[in-house]
Amino acid sequence: MLEKPEWLKRTYREDPNLKYVREMLSNLHLNTICDEAMCPNFVDCFSKKTATFMILGVNCTRNCRFCNVTNSEPQKIDADEPNRIAEAVSKLGLKYVVITSVTRDDLPDGGAAHFAATIRAIHALTPNTAVEVLIPDLLGNQDALKTVIDARPEVISHNIETVKELYDQVRPQAIYERSLQVLKSIKELAPDIRSKTGIMLGLGETAEQVYKVLDDLRDVNCEFLTIGQYLAPSSAHYPVQEYVTPEEFDRYGEIAKEKGFAFVASAPFVRSSYNASEALAAEA
Ligand code: SF4
Repeated sequence: MLEKPEWLKRTYREDPNLKYVREMLSNLHLNTICDEAMCPNFVDCFSKKTATFMILGVNCTRNCRFCNVTNSEPQKIDADEPNRIAEAVSKLGLKYVVITSVTRDDLPDGGAAHFAATIRAIHALTPNTAVEVLIPDLLGNQDALKTVIDARPEVISHNIETVKELYDQVRPQAIYERSLQVLKSIKELAPDIRSKTGIMLGLGETAEQVYKVLDDLRDVNCEFLTIGQYLAPSSAHYPVQEYVTPEEFDRYGEIAKEKGFAFVASAPFVRSSYNASEALAAEA
């Protein structure tokens, strides 16, 4: 196992908002990807009273080797969950919120209707809140994607996660071209909705392979991009192959901007939902 470099070592501080956010999530029976993925930024985000909500249960129908979310029997859809998420967004005073889900290949629409209900519930209760949905590939189901689009989120994100060459090892049930197609379809079906993706580095990719992903993403008009360091949630997960230096992240960020992305965040601790409001704010 590679030893963690200094730039990835963090000291955590106590903050009263942490307790507030945790209690509210627990009282409203809501899940976050922050907890499920053991995100290293949770203290930072919870302290700022922000979190990324995870809908459609905590059990995923896929088994990506980088991800800490449990691969198990999917749970029953909780029809009231959208309302409780809207309530949480209102209580937290969020002007921007990210909603994601486990992958639900067991559902005919992949959970699209539940995403749509959540977007509508948030916009109904807090009309000035911008909603970003980080969706799975919905098995390439265009009707399901249209269902999400019809609910009018401000941003639709779908993570490409890694380079094409590593899909078989890292995302065995995903298909690189299918993920690109999801991003392409977002802009074709709804040019006014912003599209976004994220990629992790440190899984064994080469720089040339990363540049190719960036080109492929621009070819499908993907607009916002996040690049962060992969951290293995446990020794049973796909092992980290490399710790990319902050300088290299800067360099990738510069190259991505040169390739035409409207917004790029590239640094070791960047996650697709970290400071997610910045992309839209940068355009305002
Ligand atoms: S970066 Fe995203 S997943 Fe991580 S704690 Fe912040 S909001 Fe949650």
